[in-house]
Order: sequence, then structure tokens, then C-alpha cells
Amino acid sequence: MVTEEFARQIRRDVVEMAHRSGISHIGSALSAADIIAVLYNEVMRICPDDPMNSLRDRFILSKGHASMALYAALAGKGYFPREELYRQGENGGMLSGHVAHGVPGTELSTGSLGMGLSVGAGMATAIKRDGGRQRVFVVLGDGECAEGAVWEAALFSGHNCLSNLTAVVDHNKLQANDECENVISWKNMAELWRSCGWHVLEVNGHSIPALREALSFRHGVKPVCVVAHTVKGKGVSFMEGQKVWHHLSPQGEDYANAVAELEAGNI
Ligand SMILES: [Mg+2]
Repeated sequence: MVTEEFARQIRRDVVEMAHRSGISHIGSALSAADIIAVLYNEVMRICPDDPMNSLRDRFILSKGHASMALYAALAGKGYFPREELYRQGENGGMLSGHVAHGVPGTELSTGSLGMGLSVGAGMATAIKRDGGRQRVFVVLGDGECAEGAVWEAALFSGHNCLSNLTAVVDHNKLQANDECENVISWKNMAELWRSCGWHVLEVNGHSIPALREALSFRHGVKPVCVVAHTVKGKGVSFMEGQKVWHHLSPQGEDYANAVAELEAGNI
């Protein structure tokens, strides 16, 4: 499946999951869908039949509330049956609202923001010391970057030349119910990472070719930060950039319209 189609499938699954479960964070999941699609369909070395194979690349969705996008990608790649997606949040179901490490293919429970990069840096350090070639990818939200622990991990990673570590900032300029600009203003996200010793690439976070090039890049010395400029709710026109879709799940006409847009394939 080409990555554009894989991303569309992820979005379609995300809408279905949010509709059925009533669990939301749909805007966050749609924002990160292309990033996750490129990583799982093209860039990462994955082992769906042997999820903990030591040669796998590691992926941490530090913005764990966007779990639906990750779960849809994992099911799409065969880590677990697709039917599980539609039981998210049910008693006895495997999938909870935030990423849980018991799910095949996940490395770390996340949702308590600001934790993922530190763990990713630890993984990258261990791999480097073992002489391995595996890469570690961590996706963070821009609101999440206000957590102090993110910058401790960023400084540590730059100082220790963790060239096997890539952080991706899903920079959609919104956090929960407000604009980042009104909460913690990012004067220059790229420059902050650069000053911590990272090689920084800025891309359109919904361009598959741009993401492919940036996420495939591995610097010889420095960790890489991909600042991905994104739109929260991307792919469903009436959700794009709308704060309310951080928490809502689509029902009734909203659900029907979202499905129709995604199936029309106009993005
Ligand atoms: Mg955000």
C-alpha cells in the first residue's frame, strides 16, 4: 500500500474509533497521522510477527493521547487484528485511551506528557553502547514541549551525540483547548532544538515526500529533530484547526460528513 493510502486508512480508522468509543483526541491523532504513516510504512524497521525483535527500530508516541493514530497503524501493519480497533475503551478490550505498553508493537505507556524523550534517549544510549544500528523515534506534541523534562532529555541527547535518535515535533500550534501562543509561546521551535545540539529539519508535516526525506535522514553525529508543521484535525475540513475537536468524538452528521470526506480522498 502506498503511504498516501496508508495515511488515509489511518485517518478513516481514527474517525471510526472515536465515533464508536466516544473517546476523543481525534484532532491530535489526525495531526500526527502522516508522520506515523511514513514511519511505519517506509522508514522504520518493524517486525509485526515478532514485535520485540531486538533489531527493530523503536517508536515512542510521547503525545500518548494521540493513541488512535498509532493503534490504527499497528493494526494496519498486522500487529493485532483490526477488530480490536473498534473495541477501544471497552471492558475487556485491549486498547485504552492513551498508549499502553501491553499492546503488541508499543514500547512505552505514554500520556503523562514530557516523558517519552527521556526514555527514547535511554534506548538510544543503550543501542549505541551495544554497537547497534537501530534507530529510535519519538513523536512529541508542541504543547508537550512546555514540559521541562523534554529539554533535559534534549540537552542530554545533544551532549551525548545520540545520532540514532530522531525527535519529531507535531507542531500544530494548538494544545488542548487553546493556542500554544496563548499558553507558552514558541518563538522559534527549531532554534531551541538547534541550541541543544540537534540537527533540525523543518517540514510540512502533511507532505509525504517531505516527511520521507526528513525521517530517513540520519546525521553522522547529532540527534535529529524534525519540526513538522501540521494542522490539528487534518483531513476532515470542519475539524482542521478547531480547538473543540481536541475532546469531541464525531456523531450523527459530523460522523457521516467526516467519513464522506475521507472516502472522497481529497487530501
Ligand atoms: Mg499541539
